[in-house]
Amino acid sequence: MPTTAPLVIIGGGQAGLATAHTARSLGLAPIVLEAAEQTAGSWPHYYDSLTLFSPARRSALPGTAFPGDPDGYPARDEVVAYLTDYAARLDADIRTGHRVTEVVAAPDGSRGGFEVVTAGGEVFAAPLVIAATGGFSRPHRPDLPGLDGFPGTVLHSCDYRRPGPFRGRRVVIVGGGNSAVQIAIELAGVADVTLATRHPLRFMAQRLLGVDMHIWLRRTGLDTAGWARPLLTGGKGTPVMDTGTYRDAIAAGNPDRRPMFTRLEGDQVVWSDGTREHVDVVLLATGYRPGVDHLTGLGALDEDGQPRHRGGVSLTRPGLGYVGLEWQRSFASATLRGVAADARHVLTRLRKEMRTAGRAWTPSR
Ligand code: FAD
Repeated sequence: MPTTAPLVIIGGGQAGLATAHTARSLGLAPIVLEAAEQTAGSWPHYYDSLTLFSPARRSALPGTAFPGDPDGYPARDEVVAYLTDYAARLDADIRTGHRVTEVVAAPDGSRGGFEVVTAGGEVFAAPLVIAATGGFSRPHRPDLPGLDGFPGTVLHSCDYRRPGPFRGRRVVIVGGGNSAVQIAIELAGVADVTLATRHPLRFMAQRLLGVDMHIWLRRTGLDTAGWARPLLTGGKGTPVMDTGTYRDAIAAGNPDRRPMFTRLEGDQVVWSDGTREHVDVVLLATGYRPGVDHLTGLGALDEDGQPRHRGGVSLTRPGLGYVGLEWQRSFASATLRGVAADARHVLTRLRKEMRTAGRAWTPSR
């Protein structure tokens, strides 16, 4: 017999935890299924020197302040500790070591909704499912000309931890986002580094008139306005948050920045001006895609395997939602400070769907 719940949340990172907290405040007792043995999402796997780009006061999940200096920028391990503690305090049934392999429509004759199947063979039945498996769970590795035959080291930014192993090496970093620039700056201290980007880098001031940009974005409402996306991204990806030090370092040529190379030939990179040189390492800071393969059988994904949704509510499956996708509703959607607002939005929409369909919001367990 399946274990029943009013809501199953898949993923116990910040998105899943914020959703669980919000669900409790709306009267639901969710089950959270998390593949890993801890409840800190992908944070333990990010690089050692990572510090948050938003200050502690703007990086808390609902109900629990981020400890320490409210205007400080917490380090990776502080985020891990915060999320671990947050999960422990949460009044929710969180089951770690439960990887979801498949979500299917519940059989006819049941109360409808979904059956969520885990790798261990357990089945959970629920009228509502929210996928909070992270907008960053599947590293995107573009098919660059010559990359397959490159004899040097190729790695994705998700595999990068610290600069030591790159000392003295010639490194080309592909990408112009926050991770690309942060890693390039760090590596430039020990290696010969070039950032290869399709567009010139775009920076956003970390602070304006002494106030963090995330606080401005929130005050002006720009970070929750879908229409602001072209304004904030220029259609060319999320801008790089910078206090001025990144821009200065790149202007000084360490790291160096060049237009994207045309191809790799053996161990050489061929630049757009035709010059070529030996490189040791190609580091792809080319972003991520959501990992939602377990929803394939539901017909909830498009031809690229991405969720069909509006604002996190499935366009094809009543009762199915998402929290934590990049630009799900706003600039802040896939960040610590934005995820709770999205969780509330999605759950309220799902509640409306249920009421319209004449179904109870809080089925007994
Ligand atoms: P994740 O942290 O990826 O958590 C998803 C969880 O779902 C994981 O625990 C995973 O084990 C689980 N899961 C996945 N598949 C399954 C399955 N099938 N069954 C069960 N469980 C599953 N945001 C900020 O606010 N500030 C920052 O400074 C910041 N810096 C970032 C730096 C980098 C390099 C990256 C990549 C992202 C950064 N972000 C930052 C963005 C975002 O906050 C993080 O990516 C964060 O980890 C996203 O949380 P999440 O809960 O949505 O996803």
